[in-house]
Amino acid sequence: MSVEQLAERFVMRTYAPRPALFVRAEGCELFDAAGRAHLDFVSGIGVCNTGHCHPAVVAAVREQAGRLIHASNLYWTEPGVRLAERLVESSLGGRAFLCNSGAEANEAAIKLVRKRAVAQRGAERAARGRVVVMEGAFHGRTMGALAATPQEQKQAPFAPMLAGFQTVPRDDLSALDAAVGEDTIAVLLEPVQGEGGIWPLSAETLRTARAACDRAGAALVFDEVQCGMGRTGTLWAYEGYGVRPDALTCAKALGGGLPVGALVTTPELADVLEPGDHGTTFGGSPLTAAAALAAFDVLDDEGLLAHVRAMGERLEAGLAELEDAGKVTGARGRGLMRAADLPRGGAAEVVSAALGERILLNATGPATIRFLPPLVVSEEQVDRVLRFLGQQL
Ligand SMILES: *Cc1c(COP(=O)(O)O)cnc(C)c1O
Repeated sequence: MSVEQLAERFVMRTYAPRPALFVRAEGCELFDAAGRAHLDFVSGIGVCNTGHCHPAVVAAVREQAGRLIHASNLYWTEPGVRLAERLVESSLGGRAFLCNSGAEANEAAIKLVRKRAVAQRGAERAARGRVVVMEGAFHGRTMGALAATPQEQKQAPFAPMLAGFQTVPRDDLSALDAAVGEDTIAVLLEPVQGEGGIWPLSAETLRTARAACDRAGAALVFDEVQCGMGRTGTLWAYEGYGVRPDALTCAKALGGGLPVGALVTTPELADVLEPGDHGTTFGGSPLTAAAALAAFDVLDDEGLLAHVRAMGERLEAGLAELEDAGKVTGARGRGLMRAADLPRGGAAEVVSAALGERILLNATGPATIRFLPPLVVSEEQVDRVLRFLGQQL
């Protein structure tokens, strides 16, 4: 049986992949079995920021795999500890909890803010505690992260949802300010919404959230699972906004392609979770942490971040030209995290046509194309995608 036939029979149908089968990848290209290169503007959904199979990541994985793959969190191992150091020193200065995915990092954040509320406010008041989230947000598929993801079609089949979440419209400053009250324990938001269609929140929204949290004694938590790790042109998206959260979650690009997630806090929140409160078997294990440390070296680099900003501007300028020509609307984004809408819809058809031209694009909705190339994308590669869109639309 072919791989497709085997998948049809044995793999649970949570995804409906496109008819492409990749066997190898390098830089910004994925290769099929016939050796045909495909230009990647998806990055494995924002994972392969370093470029595919970055030599430093490959070397770190090879070296670590031959030495120690797993020992459990019952013992210290160096790569995980060094990764926590790197995460904390590059951001909020407190402590890091290492896990395996974005949803898992957000689960840890939800548990942390809940425990803090119980400790500070008492169980009775904390029982009314709410986490304020934004319309259009995506925080993951596990039950807590799903409850924080106010999208009817994702939540409805899995009712009832975990209680204690409240949704406010995106970029509505007065609604946000009004929603954050004495029962608010946290505001959780993506500085740039990803799955919702690439919506950078305004700096005013982030500042309003910061001020409202300070007023209410609530924690401000940024989900940087997609917009972190250099994607927007700064290592952390919050740096580009100049608004500091109390905690951030990251994953996707953190492991250089391997599954790694993390919750990072300020010193104030660093000791909320104590032994026995939370855990995860694989979190911080040597192999994935070694990969993440290698990816960190590549991504936390001013030269690369300047390249992200330059390529982001090139993509932005090209999308603006397509907008002027009436071919797209609503071009938006930051750095190399961008999207544009098609005035007549048909995003899935454009993605299919792109695949035919060996360009990988992704649609976040019926009329929205998302652009998430590896951060090492070249000018020529950006121009090729823009040329394709100019001809196709
Ligand atoms: C992808 C994503 C998640 C979920 O990450 P998983 O690793 O798939 O669990 C959470 N938040 C954001 C912003 C994401 O883009």
